[in-house]
Amino acid sequence: MARLRPVVVVHYHEISLKRGNRPLFLRHLKRNLERATEDLGPFVVRQRPGRIVLDLEDHPKPDAVLERAATVCGVAGVALAYRTSSTLEAMEAVLGRLLEGRRFGSFRISARRAFKTYPMTSVELNRALGAFVLARVPTRVDLHHPEVEIVVEVLPDETFIALDRRPGPGGLPVGASGTVAALLSGGIDSPVAAWRMMKRGCRVLFVHFHSVPYLPATSQAKARALVERLSTWQYDSSLYLVPFGEIQREIVLSVPGPARVVVYRRFMVRIAETLARRHGALALVTGESLGQVASQTLENIAAIDAVATRPVFRPLIGMDKLEITAEARRLGTLETSIEPDADCCTLFTPRHPATRMSAAEAGALEERLDVGRLVEAGAGQAVLETFRFPVLAA
Ligand code: ATP
Ligand code: MG
Repeated sequence: MARLRPVVVVHYHEISLKRGNRPLFLRHLKRNLERATEDLGPFVVRQRPGRIVLDLEDHPKPDAVLERAATVCGVAGVALAYRTSSTLEAMEAVLGRLLEGRRFGSFRISARRAFKTYPMTSVELNRALGAFVLARVPTRVDLHHPEVEIVVEVLPDETFIALDRRPGPGGLPVGASGTVAALLSGGIDSPVAAWRMMKRGCRVLFVHFHSVPYLPATSQAKARALVERLSTWQYDSSLYLVPFGEIQREIVLSVPGPARVVVYRRFMVRIAETLARRHGALALVTGESLGQVASQTLENIAAIDAVATRPVFRPLIGMDKLEITAEARRLGTLETSIEPDADCCTLFTPRHPATRMSAAEAGALEERLDVGRLVEAGAGQAVLETFRFPVLAA
């Protein structure tokens, strides 16, 4: 009887569009696949044309590896497959074992040849293996909506047969695009924005502003829980907790109520940039979506960006709240985000902030403040915490 040799076959999409940089992207992807699964036990990772193969023949938990591999950014899809040699007899032997005890109403075979000199065409392989299945399972062929799709990938020296496939996040491997610093509140939006940047290959440094002791420490606990969750996709995370209450108190002395939110934000941007510089982060990220709340008008966003010296990315700018909430639920950040807490930007601010502040107006109001000293104080008192995923058993 054929011995089953499980592998996880990892497919990527966008990386294959790169030309000169492909080896670099693949190195990141390979390293992240290893990193995402390091608590599950070692295995050999092989780069093959157009795919990466994880050899799990002696591995205790192939299914767990499949689950984890499906979360790695840059992965278009993964399949738990079985490796065999590329003869029809060998394929049938493995397929026979995989069909043992399985019942399904319909199926299709999707054979692909990674090299065209194979003696059978894909169509011929589909027919031959389809007939093999029909002889063993009471079922029928359905090319359009099969209950089970049996994918057969034929390489010159080995073939992979898979029944169980799942999509990955797509995008690019974390680390391939450099580092950005995300302003992380305890809300719904900023964790989603940070994740979007991870999916574009960025490593994200997190910066959270809190107003302890003027407000309770809830927001810090939420920020920590969110970073822990988001570490699922980047493995090692750093979070700066910045005490912002004293700075807000000074701002309040010279800035009228309606203007405070924009001025707070400008200070957050300046402090986050100072911290970003320490980590070589070349851009900032926020969770703003155009028009969602009063502080997120075009005018106010422009007034905030005016103090930035590096790009400020807003990956959610064109999304509505329902879309963002659905994504937060998928990512598993929503539950933490909706826990009640007091937002630091509501401290000492009226219910109706200015919606159209120009950079010049904000700048004029800040003239009475010692901006440099406040920014230095904020950055200087920031506390750095680090997070690791997966948590290794002791
Ligand atoms: P979120 O759901 O991310 O809190 P929001 O819809 O509540 O966003 P705002 O309160 O206007 O919007 O905040 C806009 C953005 O400013 C946030 O997405 C975040 O990037 C940043 N921000 C706001 N408050 C903080 C904070 N306390 N610490 C760090 N960043 C913050
Ligand atoms: Mg918020």
